Amino acid sequence: MDMKDPVCGMEAGGSSRFRSNYKGKTFFFCSESCKDRFDKEPDSYA
Ligand SMILES: [Zn+2]
Repeated sequence: MDMKDPVCGMEAGGSSRFRSNYKGKTFFFCSESCKDRFDKEPDSYA
């Protein structure tokens, strides 16, 4: 599983509490703002 934050490229880690499921994959984020950006336009980042 890729644990990089797809929005900013930082290592987010599997323990991050900021996460989203998209197309059957779990994505991890370093912060709420990165998660929000992903949730608005997941196709840009997934
Ligand atoms: Zn981030």
